[in-house]
Amino acid sequence: VARADVPWEVLLADPDTLRRYEAKVYRRGPDRCEYWLGGISDSGHGKFRGGSRAKGSQVPSWVVSAHVLGYGIVHGAKALGTLLIRHSCDSPSCQQPDHWLLGTRRDNVLDYASRSRLAGHTLADVRGAAGRAVAIRDAILTAQKEGADADTIEAAIRAAIIAGQPGGAWQDGLW
Ligand SMILES: [Zn+2]
Repeated sequence: VARADVPWEVLLADPDTLRRYEAKVYRRGPDRCEYWLGGISDSGHGKFRGGSRAKGSQVPSWVVSAHVLGYGIVHGAKALGTLLIRHSCDSPSCQQPDHWLLGTRRDNVLDYASRSRLAGHTLADVRGAAGRAVAIRDAILTAQKEGADADTIEAAIRAAIIAGQPGGAWQDGLW
């Protein structure tokens, strides 16, 4: 779906869409990655169905990238131009507004070239972006299902991240 085709104003004005988006974000506080707990695309981005498919719904159903909807929630529909919404943390499933920045595909390519060989870096994860995002999501969901407290969930996130780094290196939060 092209971004220009999505009725962002309608989705962003729909309380049910906003509530369901927020329910799928694992909030951790300022400066921390906040991971998407819903569907993950092949590129590692969160996928979200805004609106409703129910008969007679006033809000049409659209599957959108979670962080694009999130960017609209924070900055308004008009801010959703044609530029890519990138992640300074290089984690495509991240919903931390402070980690979003506008840029181009070329910026992403340059970032990948400069960071993907750094030991322990997110872009060096052997599972790829989608595999990493799914592993982190599933670690959080499993811990939540077991009634884990926040510290235990943090340990589960850390273990899920390190599992993708053959050297066991750890650079979360460095970028
Ligand atoms: Zn992040």
